[in-house]
Amino acid sequence: MTELTPARTRVAPSPTGDPHVGTAFMALFDKAWAAKTGGSFVLRIEDTDQNRLVEGSEQQIHDTLAWLGLSPDEGPLEGGEFGPYRQSERLETYRPFVERLIADGHAYYCWCSPERLAELRKEQDATKAARTGYDRLCLGKTREERAKLPGFTETPVVRMLVPDDAPLTFTDIIRGEVKAPFPDDQVILKADGFPTYHMAVVVDDHLMGITTVVRGEEWISSTPKHLLLYRWLGFPEPQYAHMPLLRNTDRSKISKRRNPAARLMWFREQGYLPEAVRNFLQLLGYPPADDDSEVATFEEFVENFSWDKVNTTGPVFDVKKLDWLNGHYIRALGADELTERIVAFHVERGDWDSVIDIDVLRRAVPLVSERMTLLGDALPKLGFLFADRVEVEEAARASLPGNAAEVLDAGIDVLETMPFDAASIQAGLREKLVDGLGIKPKFAFGPLRVGLTGAKVSPPLFESMEILGREETLTRLRALRETL
Ligand code: GLU
Repeated sequence: MTELTPARTRVAPSPTGDPHVGTAFMALFDKAWAAKTGGSFVLRIEDTDQNRLVEGSEQQIHDTLAWLGLSPDEGPLEGGEFGPYRQSERLETYRPFVERLIADGHAYYCWCSPERLAELRKEQDATKAARTGYDRLCLGKTREERAKLPGFTETPVVRMLVPDDAPLTFTDIIRGEVKAPFPDDQVILKADGFPTYHMAVVVDDHLMGITTVVRGEEWISSTPKHLLLYRWLGFPEPQYAHMPLLRNTDRSKISKRRNPAARLMWFREQGYLPEAVRNFLQLLGYPPADDDSEVATFEEFVENFSWDKVNTTGPVFDVKKLDWLNGHYIRALGADELTERIVAFHVERGDWDSVIDIDVLRRAVPLVSERMTLLGDALPKLGFLFADRVEVEEAARASLPGNAAEVLDAGIDVLETMPFDAASIQAGLREKLVDGLGIKPKFAFGPLRVGLTGAKVSPPLFESMEILGREETLTRLRALRETL
């Protein structure tokens, strides 16, 4: 196998709200490619759009990436030799490059007011103009010349001067040759002195030594602008990997407005395990070689990583598959670890009940893990273990057979004396009720279950008795017996 050149990859989210699931999807591929090639994965915070910043959003980006095991090698918290890793702390970096573009005739000042630009757009729409975008009114004019014309503002922006022969095709390592539309004279420096995304992304990717730009396919149409900037500034071009957009089951683009699962925090709030979510994102990237490899660790994913396997037709976000994976990972945890995660989940959600004895929970968790999909599924099934008194559900009471009193009496009788482990309890009860009294198991154990748990359906009965202990078991059975 040929030695791979160490890649430097980056994920570059904007802290404009709850992190999007797409950010984790990119980060997974960034981290995998860096790991595969022995390179590094960088987190850069793209916070140049000051109007859209949301307090706390950056912290959520750090937290959710860490939760998923996708923390970067370099970033605002991790540090690194290419910092700072927040664009707002790099403002001084961009200006000289903008000035160089202006001096070289590749960029120009534009004093057009927002009103004039809006008017222009309206006109172009109305006349269905062949060429839309900025009409270059300011190009070649000095400030004084421009000021004499209508629609002038004091503080200019800087625009790229896109040449007629701008390159429109590029090679993408997932998609092969890609063609993008002809770009507009894009603003690269805003009136507030902040660079736009397009300027900052090119300068930063270059200065941070990024070799492989992994991002969503919505950026394909911006790539020609970026390639022009690379060319003008004399920077070598990076490789591009434009990932498919994740889609809802109706194939619409996944958005936070329409699908709660678009929010990365949602998974944690719902009780998904990070390893299941990470595995799920792997599957969204590309189908595994066979069904048996659907469950795969990050290391296995890296081992088999390949860009040309990436599915370019929007992978569908199928929560059923995620549920299945989550159940799998839940059962793969030992009782100790699963208990810890259940407790942490409820504490984080703010509904942890302090009457719950964690040692009891740890013993009971294996009784329900087979039927768990989410971390929050355990406690509702096990609530009877921690209750002082059993409330018998109406349906459970109605299900009691005519001989319930007899069954309970016989059961109580057996349980008073026998060794109190699940196997002995089962053998003893079976002998007395099924073999001795000739009652079908369904009717023999039903009243005991109702007495013990208050419900018709419960976790395994004999194990539950063992956990509750003889005294509590008998108290509960007697309490039901008294009501009959
Ligand atoms: N800040 C951009 C975003 O949030 C990054 C796009 C890119 O990766 O180039 O989508």
